[in-house]
Amino acid sequence: MNKIDYLRISLIDKCNFRCQYCMPEGSQLDYLLRRELLTNQEIITLVQKIFIPLGFTKFRLTGGEPLLRPGVVELVQKIANLPQTQDLAMTTNGFLLANMARSLYDAGLRRINISLDSLNPETFDQIIGNQGRSRWQKTWEGITAAHQVGFDPLKLNVVIIPGVNDSEILDLAALTIERNWHVRFIEFMPIGNQELFTERAWIPSEELRQQISDRWGLSESQVTGNGPADIFQIPGAKGTLGFISQMSECFCDRCNRVRLSADGWLRPCLLNETGQIDLKTALRQGENPEKVREQVQQLILLKPEINFKQRDSGTDTGSYTRTMSQIGG
Ligand code: SAM
Ligand code: SF4
Repeated sequence: MNKIDYLRISLIDKCNFRCQYCMPEGSQLDYLLRRELLTNQEIITLVQKIFIPLGFTKFRLTGGEPLLRPGVVELVQKIANLPQTQDLAMTTNGFLLANMARSLYDAGLRRINISLDSLNPETFDQIIGNQGRSRWQKTWEGITAAHQVGFDPLKLNVVIIPGVNDSEILDLAALTIERNWHVRFIEFMPIGNQELFTERAWIPSEELRQQISDRWGLSESQVTGNGPADIFQIPGAKGTLGFISQMSECFCDRCNRVRLSADGWLRPCLLNETGQIDLKTALRQGENPEKVREQVQQLILLKPEINFKQRDSGTDTGSYTRTMSQIGG
């Protein structure tokens, strides 16, 4: 069994974007009330008393949009300063990053993934929901600020939606040629917007690789990640290309993570809520940390049986009730 040592922590379920594939405009989401969110101190307590003693050393802050969370810089600082933290990363849409990149870096964050689905401002706005003003420029400024501050590796997450941004696969891949950036193509998953999924389906990573390979050639990279991405490189490029192919391939056997939602539910698998534990209530009711650790340990042991591949085997419990923004993508 894989060593499970990586916790993704959702800081907030709200977002300033309305990505078509995540929380499309007009979708009815019941946001958490402030008192329902784990506080910074509760997050630190869970990390220190539950996860670190169980061997967790890698943490990623996500959401919703994590930069909307008040006190995010202080939280980064606290987790980064824990002696057991070996890796602390964040996934953000980058819109607020231009003004925050320096303080996040100074607080100890070193790795950042920024979502960027298009280099074309109009297409970008179409994907993220325009809301009356263009957001591309400010997002791009966030990316360049992160680059200038020294975030390394700097990863860009791309979701390709057929008929929307699939004409930009090569342009997005080309970002890795001159820059030490890592562009990761994530197969669009059937959560968040089931309608879009039936309409347009998704493009398998293999097809993207073929397109890129036909243009420049493509080799498997010497750089290997510790996650689900298959890493490739355009010959001579400074950066790499990652492919996260949860729809076309099953990488459950490589999965090393569990997810903590903003309201404190610990999930063993992105698409499966089976066995999830309400850590917020346990904490607020003052349960013995040793007992909670035992429950978490049990969940981790069960993880190989509670996973994404149940989707294909027909034993999926069908718990696709939460969007990526709610689970903490
Ligand atoms: N708001 C931040 C962002 O967009 O980077 C962090 C949270 S977001 C849920 C994390 C990642 O999940 C993003 O890279 C986004 O593209 C991806 N994502 C959201 N919904 C998805 C879906 N239905 N299929 C594939 N990826 C999705
Ligand atoms: Fe917001 Fe990220 Fe979801 Fe887009 S993918 S709506 S930026 S949480």
